[in-house]
Amino acid sequence: MQKNYPLTNLTTLGVPSVAECFCVVRSVEELKKALIFAMKNDLEYRVIGEGSNIFLESEFIRGLVIKNEIRGKEVVDSLVRSNAGENWDDFVAWTISQKRYGLENLSWIPGTVGASPVQNIGAYGVEVAAFIHSVEVCKVSRSEQSVECKTLSRIDCCFGYRDSIFKKPEGKDYIITSVTFDLSAEPNINISYPDVKVWLERNSKKASDVTPELVREAIISIRKAKLPDLTQVGTAGSFFKNPVIKPDHFAKIKSKYDGIPGFPINSKEGPMIKVPLAWILDSVCKVKGLQIGCAYVHEKQPLVLINKKGGSYNDIQSLVRELSRRVFEATNINIEQEVVSWR
Ligand code: NAP
Repeated sequence: MQKNYPLTNLTTLGVPSVAECFCVVRSVEELKKALIFAMKNDLEYRVIGEGSNIFLESEFIRGLVIKNEIRGKEVVDSLVRSNAGENWDDFVAWTISQKRYGLENLSWIPGTVGASPVQNIGAYGVEVAAFIHSVEVCKVSRSEQSVECKTLSRIDCCFGYRDSIFKKPEGKDYIITSVTFDLSAEPNINISYPDVKVWLERNSKKASDVTPELVREAIISIRKAKLPDLTQVGTAGSFFKNPVIKPDHFAKIKSKYDGIPGFPINSKEGPMIKVPLAWILDSVCKVKGLQIGCAYVHEKQPLVLINKKGGSYNDIQSLVRELSRRVFEATNINIEQEVVSWR
């Protein structure tokens, strides 16, 4: 347990900040001890994995920050189980080497296995929820000052588009310790997304040649070409969610900007349209490269914000406000942050 611990290098965005208290846990027992410590000392607690989806919106983070480094993965009968602190992409590579398929479209996503159910990571037509069998959690009870281990089924997790119970008030006391996946022994190739099709064509691959290993290679290559290298620049990847709007709202925007793409989806509110925000930011708002202080919009993908060395959270905040204002003015869409803010 350390006091006034610098968090700057524990998030990929690299904004300077300090935690009141900090510790690393490498087992569920250590996690329980840390949580009990926080409750006994009346401290708020937060859990960090590889820090690739966190915006430290304050120079001082009150309470206890717990870094989850609970590692280990195994094949259990027909299922595959991984502890939360494993690196996601290493895990995806390992599942393919074990001839367990399904996660290859989710290659090269930063972060840990434990973070994957939280926002139900998805890419190139695949969502992790489709392969989740169950999620083990520590459930914290502040009133009883206790921590209990629990297993949640896929249904219990209430998955939606980039959403789950872990983002809602009813899931706030759950800390994910491991995830169990139900993967397929048979390859089930999904190459429906345009970027993947184009890559296969460019590399002269026929649909019949495509293996899960090749899909992984394609996705890694596409992502590396489009996204900045987290080890070279400060970024948390896509900063905003793609908006999901009502069909009549979409029709209004389309009458102004005819080329706008829209993908129909069914949500709890009925039929909706998912709109690529990158298209609006690029073709309507023309913000690629826009810079405020040390924060700027990535040239190749405007959903991605970059924080140059030395930048403070103020610069990112100002850029977020400016982008939100421009998108709202042009489309009446209130954009939502995907990255989680810690204040
Ligand atoms: P992209 O492939 O240019 O797609 C932009 C948007 O159009 C996304 O909302 C995507 O939906 C949608 N889209 C494109 N083709 C589609 C199709 N055939 N059917 C339905 N919807 C379609 O996006 P990108 O920014 O370069 O990112 C690549 C992939 O990584 C996308 O799937 C994106 O969602 C994903 N990604 C995920 C996260 C995350 O999980 N937090 C963060 C960054 C990027 P979908 O969003 O449903 O794919």
